[in-house]
Amino acid sequence: MMDELRELYQEVILDHGKNPRNFRHPDDANREAKGENPMCGDRFMVYLKLHGGVIEDVAFQGRGCAISTASASMMTEVVKGKSETEAKALFETFHDLCTKDEHEHCDHGPVDEEAMEKLMVLSGVRQFPVRVKCATLAWHALNAAIEGEDKASSESE
Ligand code: ZN
Repeated sequence: MMDELRELYQEVILDHGKNPRNFRHPDDANREAKGENPMCGDRFMVYLKLHGGVIEDVAFQGRGCAISTASASMMTEVVKGKSETEAKALFETFHDLCTKDEHEHCDHGPVDEEAMEKLMVLSGVRQFPVRVKCATLAWHALNAAIEGEDKASSESE
């Protein structure tokens, strides 16, 4: 990766880590799930307002490292207004981005290209397996909340 690009990615991650977007507990949330990553000490609650299969609102609270916080923050930005199906496709595609080489990426259904471009800044975690759990934690919690489970396990990457 070009140094300039890496620096830009770093800046975006630090910005989201310091000033997380949608860091709140919406009163009208009807789903929530906890995400925990004991290896790093990341703990988040993800809140959803799910209505008619659409994520009308999404927010999170908790504590975590810069990567997990930035990832949670970006997740809330890209899945808001999406259908459950779109959000899941984004999760699977993002998961591939964090864990697999490009030629191993699978087709998980149509995804918002603009959202994926945004999430690219976290693709660097692929080189740091320990960080993959940080980067995917909020997404696992999101998935659990959509499924109606109250807890996401960090054991499944
Ligand atoms: Zn972490």
